[in-house]
This record gives sequence, structure tokens and C-alpha cells, in this order.
Amino acid sequence: MQLFKSQVVRVTNSLSGKKEVFNPIKAGYIGMYVCGPTVYSNVHLGNCRTFMSFDMIYRYFKHLGFKVRYVRNITDAGHLENDADEGEDKIAKKAKLEQIEPMEVVQRYTVDFHNTLQQFNFLPPSIEPTATGHIIEQIEIIKDILAKGFAYEVNGSVYFDVVKFNETNEYGKLSGRKLEDMIANTRALAAQDEKKNPQDFALWKKAEPQHIMRWPSPWGDGFPGWHLECTAMSTKYLGETFDIHGGGMDLKFPHHECEIAQAEASNQKSPVNYWLHANMLTLNGKKMSKSTGNNLYPSEIFSGDNNLLSKPYSPAVVRFFMLQAHYTSILDLSDDALLASEKGYSRLMEALGNLESLVATKKGEFDIEAWRNNCYKAMNDDFNTPILISHLFEAVKHINLIKENKERISESDKELLQKTIHEFIFDVLGIENQSAMEGDSNTLSGVVELLIELRNSARINKDFATSDKIRDELIALGIQLKDGKEGTTFSIN
Ligand code: AMP
Ligand code: ZN
Repeated sequence: MQLFKSQVVRVTNSLSGKKEVFNPIKAGYIGMYVCGPTVYSNVHLGNCRTFMSFDMIYRYFKHLGFKVRYVRNITDAGHLENDADEGEDKIAKKAKLEQIEPMEVVQRYTVDFHNTLQQFNFLPPSIEPTATGHIIEQIEIIKDILAKGFAYEVNGSVYFDVVKFNETNEYGKLSGRKLEDMIANTRALAAQDEKKNPQDFALWKKAEPQHIMRWPSPWGDGFPGWHLECTAMSTKYLGETFDIHGGGMDLKFPHHECEIAQAEASNQKSPVNYWLHANMLTLNGKKMSKSTGNNLYPSEIFSGDNNLLSKPYSPAVVRFFMLQAHYTSILDLSDDALLASEKGYSRLMEALGNLESLVATKKGEFDIEAWRNNCYKAMNDDFNTPILISHLFEAVKHINLIKENKERISESDKELLQKTIHEFIFDVLGIENQSAMEGDSNTLSGVVELLIELRNSARINKDFATSDKIRDELIALGIQLKDGKEGTTFSIN
């Protein structure tokens, strides 16, 4: 269904600071790039919030019938410890610390990232490219920027010339900064510094002999600057100008500002039509962050193994908690807030169960068409999930009244209500019904136990053809039987 033809979506564009009507470059198609994680440690819940905001946005666009190419990268090289192009590569540092290969660090934390996102029921992106897989593309862009006069080479490193760029373009337009103010507020460069200006940033850094992550280039062995990978991968997969670029608010400057400068210097085109920024998750009023240690990991929340929360919370409850806030607002994590979300989540799931068993009679008081329109209106208004959720609870109120015979519903209204509520909860918000999933797994266990019993009887009767068939068919379905002293157990792959 091409719902997008009848729905007008407005998004907050960081570039203009305004809510704008979203018009894709090609009708019916969307190109969206989101900066992915730097895989040198486990993702904390703050990271998950940003990715969840874009998962919800991706889901809504898909629900509206858009064909979305969603690119979310993996940063596996080039991200230095600080933004001033100094310090070690975060991944190389971890590899040295643990005495393993950098690619082992990358593999370990990429797997953790995927597992965590899967627990939260994320949809995988269409393409998940890596920085190290696009070194050639990055070198080509540097050559181009050098040829156009917006970069300079010093001693095997290449820097972007921000002052030169600002003569013809506007450096700072995304973050609302002026280059003159930035220059006035920074201390002068040290004599040994290679940069012409402190605001210049590295496109390519020469690798010192001890630097293990290195690639050959026209300027000698080195590695790409962090900002460049996103320009290379977004241009490659989405084109020189694409619809949406997202990331956390903290990436607006310098990362996204530098991405704009690189792309404009290379293509003379603005790379992105809509810049979307997700706000931060805080803990005790401060940003969750890997470096300060003020954070909670999803696994600590699911297991309850932490000093901050009174009990464990399921992935679906945590997801529901996060989507109860607008993606552009700051959200603080607390036990009270999670407890409230857990209650709300249970009410919602209970109402879903009740909805199935409602007896339809005749048209009632609840105007489902108007309610459905309000759900779309909320999501069309910059993906306003808290308002959408308040509409879902309005439906819960009516479901409960109908159940108590205090209101009525017609068969067609019931069908529309079921369809709409399922679409918004499961498809758009991506919230899973965990008790139903547990129910499914209990049913499966029951069926396997029954087959084990039938297999045992077959064996007692020496009907080995049947007993082997049961075992082999189960293996084909990924279910292994294990015969032991205590009887037969099973495991599901
Ligand atoms: P990193 O792996 O540090 O590059 O971060 C991955 C993503 O997580 C980026 O988009 C960050 O903006 C985002 N992020 C980091 N900390 C938080 C936080 N406390 N709340 C929300 N998003 C965050
Ligand atoms: Zn990026």
C-alpha cells in the first residue's frame, strides 16, 4: 500500500532548525544514512537510544510504503581518542591493551552490537558498510579535495583547509557556529603542529611506525580521518545528494559539519536534504557515555545485574520506555520511569489480548476512523511517538469498556482497530509481545516433549523407522535430541 501518497510527513531539519515537509528526491524512494557505532567496546543503552530512534523512523517510512535504502556504517578504523586529530585510534588502543588483533576487537564488538540490537527487535539496515572496506573510496575523495584546492599535504598527512573552504562556502551552518568565533576562541597552534589552523581536520593521517592500523596511499602509509568514511560510504551507496542523514546530537559538531565540508568541497553540492539528530539518554542527569563510565549496558538491565535498578526489565519494556519520549528530547533513565513503563506496557499487551475476544455487536461510541487518523497525524508530526502512544492508550480505554459491556463495537470497526493497533505497536514502534513469545516457546516445548514420548513408545515397540524419522525430522528443524540416563532432553538451535 502506498500510504505515503496520502500522508504528509514533517521532520525537524537541523540544517534549518525548522520542521519541514519531507519531500524525497525520488517519489516513493528514500535514501537514509545513519552514523553507526565505533566498535571498540560494548554498546551502552545511550547508543541504543539513538539507533532505536532511527529504527523507528525507518519502520514508519517502510510502513508508509516508501522503498527505503537504509545505510548504517560500522566504524572500524580512523576514530581517534579526541576530536582534535590527536591520540590513538580507539580500536588500535583496545587491541594493544588486550594483546589481540584490531580486527578481533572489531569482530567482538560488532557481534555484540548486532546481538543487542536483535534483542531490542531492530530491523537490520539495507547496507552496513565498514570504514576499512572503503579505504580506496576515501583516498579518491582526498585526491579530489586536494585537486580542488581545499586540502593540503604536510609530511605524509592531509588536512582539510577550513579557512579556504569558508571563503566560498559556509563552515558551521549545521551547528550554528561561525568560523571567526571558533578561531577567536581557540588557542594558537603549537609550533610543531602541522595544521595551518586549529579548525582544520585530518583527511589522512601519517601512521607512525608503532601504529598498527595502516594502509598505503599516495602520501605514504597512514589511515583515513574519521569524518571521511561517512562521506565515502554515503556517497557511494546513496549518491552525491541524498534524503536523510542521521546520528546523535553529539555528532553534529565536528563530525557532521566536516562531512558537509568534505562533500561540498568535492562535489560542489550539499550532500543531505534533511539532517535529523536524536537526543541523548542521560543517567543521573548526565549523558550516558563510554568514556566517563556513566552508563548502563543493556545486558545489565535485562539481567538485573546492576546497582541502579530495583529489578530486571525486558527488552520490550526498555524499548517502550525509550519510545515514550520524543526522539529530539533528552530522556533520563531511572527505576521509577522504567517501572511506570513496565506497567503501561502490560496494560497495552493485556488490552491486545482482550481485543481478540471482544464480541462485536453494532456500531459504538469509539470513532475508529478518527482515532486512526490521529495516530498517523502524530507520526507525521516529526515521528511523535509519545503522542502516538497516548492514542494507543485511548484505544485501550475503549477496549476495556467494550469488554465490560459499557460500550459497543461493530465487526468492521473491530477489524480496523485490530489492524491499526497491531501495525502501530508491532510494525512501527517495533514493540514485541513478550508474553506471547514466551507462550509460543512454551507451546513449542510441549510439542517437542510429545514427539519425544511418541519416539520412546516407537522404540519400545521396536518401530525404529518411526523413532529415527522423528529424530531426523527434528534435526532438520534445528532441534537436537539428547538421550541420557535421566531420559531424553532437547536443545533448539
Ligand atoms: P559512538 O560509538 O561513540 O560513535 O556512538 C554511536 C552513536 O551513539 C552516535 O550516534 C552517538 O551520537 C550516540 N550516543 C552516544 N552517547 C549517547 C547517549 N548518551 N544517548 C543517545 N545517543 C548516544
Ligand atoms: Zn558518521
